Amino acid sequence: MTKNSRTENDPARKSQLSGAAPLPLEPDRNCPLCPRLADFREQARAREPGWFNSPVSSFGDPAARLLIVGLAPGLQGANRTGRPFTGDYAGDLLYATLLEYGFAKGVYQARPDDGLTLVDCRISNAVRCVPPQNKPLPAEINTCRQFLSATIQTMPRLRAAVALGRVAHESMLKALGLRSSAAPFAHGAMHQAAAVKLYDSYHCSRYNTNTGVLTAEMFRRVFARVRADLDTGS
Ligand code: SF4
Repeated sequence: MTKNSRTENDPARKSQLSGAAPLPLEPDRNCPLCPRLADFREQARAREPGWFNSPVSSFGDPAARLLIVGLAPGLQGANRTGRPFTGDYAGDLLYATLLEYGFAKGVYQARPDDGLTLVDCRISNAVRCVPPQNKPLPAEINTCRQFLSATIQTMPRLRAAVALGRVAHESMLKALGLRSSAAPFAHGAMHQAAAVKLYDSYHCSRYNTNTGVLTAEMFRRVFARVRADLDTGS
């Protein structure tokens, strides 16, 4: 991928280079940039007025060294509760693993007010709005990358990122300026991007665990490696 094509795919980079006003760090709750997703959001608001039904912000301290990037809010998970990975199966496995490896403290109770806090860790998504069938379109992933890039840019101590699934991996590569051909997605792989190590994992969705694509042990091994690398500074 050329430098120019990376710029075209990343509105934050384009804005930086053009000298235009900096893009917002977080999307407006009525962000209109992906018309299909904005429409889906409106339908969800009409159907479930008590749900969050807005772009889901990152969770955790910008001073953290670890960033975890998922695909997009789950319809009945983060889209319902407003906190990444909160309220559906993917969150059960993710937060249990983070608690085990010291990246979270408290008790995860699948609610944004459960008091759980992240430790040296932040969680975000490649796409901030819930997509139909959990499948964002390539244009939507490209458009929302400005917010992922902004998340990265506001993490001065960032040393490790875990991409949950291929979409998060590809979007992180573009945000970090790595070529896809140089860093193919593979569960358990690690790619170096300047000071940041990008670790790949299959997404911790119920579908992946039910079909045996990902086991809890496979998932634990990814975080065990991240923990060890951060602890040893390697
Ligand atoms: S997915 Fe991102 S860019 Fe698209 S409408 Fe939602 S917040 Fe805006």
